[in-house]
Amino acid sequence: MTFINEAPKQVPVIHEADICVIGGSATGVFAAVRAARLGAKVVIVECQNSFGGVASNGLVGLWHTFLSTDFKTQVISGLTEETLSRFDEVDHTIHGADDAKSHVFNPVELKCELDCMLQECGVKIYLHTYYAGIATDGRDIKAIFVENKDGRGAIKAKFFIDATGDGDLCRDLKIARFENDHIQPPTYVFLHQGDDQIIVDRCQIVGSDPITHLLNEHCEEFDIERDWGWAVKIPGLNKMKMRANTHVFNVNCAKADDLTYAELKGREKMRKINKLLRKYGDPNETYSIVSDCSYIGIRDTYHYKTKYQANSLDLLMGKNYDDCILRGTYNVDAHHDKEGIKFLRLDGTYSVEDSYGNIREGNWRAEQGLPTDGPMPTFYQLPFKAIVQEDYNNLIAAGRMINADASAFGALRVMVNLNQIGEAAGVAAYLAIHQNKAIQDVCGVEVAKTMSAGGSANLG
Ligand SMILES: Cc1cc2nc3c(=O)[nH]c(=O)nc-3n(C[C@H](O)[C@H](O)[C@H](O)COP(=O)(O)OP(=O)(O)OC[C@H]3O[C@@H](n4cnc5c(N)ncnc54)[C@H](O)[C@@H]3O)c2cc1C
Repeated sequence: MTFINEAPKQVPVIHEADICVIGGSATGVFAAVRAARLGAKVVIVECQNSFGGVASNGLVGLWHTFLSTDFKTQVISGLTEETLSRFDEVDHTIHGADDAKSHVFNPVELKCELDCMLQECGVKIYLHTYYAGIATDGRDIKAIFVENKDGRGAIKAKFFIDATGDGDLCRDLKIARFENDHIQPPTYVFLHQGDDQIIVDRCQIVGSDPITHLLNEHCEEFDIERDWGWAVKIPGLNKMKMRANTHVFNVNCAKADDLTYAELKGREKMRKINKLLRKYGDPNETYSIVSDCSYIGIRDTYHYKTKYQANSLDLLMGKNYDDCILRGTYNVDAHHDKEGIKFLRLDGTYSVEDSYGNIREGNWRAEQGLPTDGPMPTFYQLPFKAIVQEDYNNLIAAGRMINADASAFGALRVMVNLNQIGEAAGVAAYLAIHQNKAIQDVCGVEVAKTMSAGGSANLG
């Protein structure tokens, strides 16, 4: 690589705040709202034109159940529940067909609602503003540099929350990181018009996505690699689904070249799937792409080290923590595990579906010599130390850059979980400033209790 020197320049300080959140999916927005509601002066920086991340700009309007696996206890509430309760009923449905009781919503509504929530608590908003660098003094972060239509500027704050998904601040701070052996692939989601009921009937498929079967039958003709995927009807829209059959494999989208390739490849695949449906779908339907994601949906890139690495055994055994900041139920879900897509459940069962639609089932508890009878956990927990890095006094990373092994990541990465991590980050940042403490000295039990006092379900 060759280098060229950039002339040093004075950068204007465009804003000063207590807490600066970088990245505005619901993770970042919930961090900002929580901190602002506690009384902190908060600024949020987002490089897209709107908030919501993968859930809005990636068109993935699906948050999993708030209930324990036996559906008897509400384990998730907080800002996740509050946000959906603000929607008109027509834009939000509880998807019960597969008994998963997931919440499906119109992604555009989410964008608008997050705008409102941030403005209501006085958070300073910067959209179309890209985090571009960082200024430190020893173990303290002093400011970040951003680029937007005004050029380059600095934002000073007492505390920083990296909610960029990839961990862009952690990258620049050279915090120790790792990639999983198999990075979960990104998906180019699109909004698609055209009924697929006839394909469901023809393939006699229940539950599974019919397009997966059609795609794999004709993938060679359309030069598409074998894949699987899913689709869900957008509430309030007729004959329209978001489709996620467009994985792009073997890329790490935190790398510029890989990200560019994934966007191009994902779009190409989307178009081929539309053509395939025009040929082999319902002859009486007009299949058309209504819109595509603003950017490819990224599941997995780098993970940054913290005091504790989440692991699938602690999760699946339902280990309890006094400083629990997250309760969840979503299965350990490894997309494109070497065998296919694999789900491991809290009750001990697992299933693996390959790209031919074949399903193999088993019991991971039995395979590990663990008891398979007696009461099983109905939700899992994550301790505060999982999000506490040890290098800087005034930084938390919240989001899919979480320090988790590949399997635990498969469970924790879903939005109802990351939303809670965002809330924990906002609360912890507030406590750090309020108590004049480094993040490493903030009491996790107090974070959990403050989260509960602010509406989270029974933490701490
Ligand atoms: C196709 C697909 C389907 C999925 N399905 C589900 C599902 O059904 N349910 C579920 O719960 N989860 C699902 N997931 C997982 C979930 O969507 C992600 O794990 C989650 O969105 C990650 O959240 P995050 O906040 O860490 O990152 P992101 O959602 O990626 O948000 C990061 C935010 O930071 C911003 N940003 C990044 N870099 C910068 C920068 N330098 N400057 C300023 N802003 C920046 C981005 O624009 C974005 O708004 C799916 C993921 C994908 C890709």
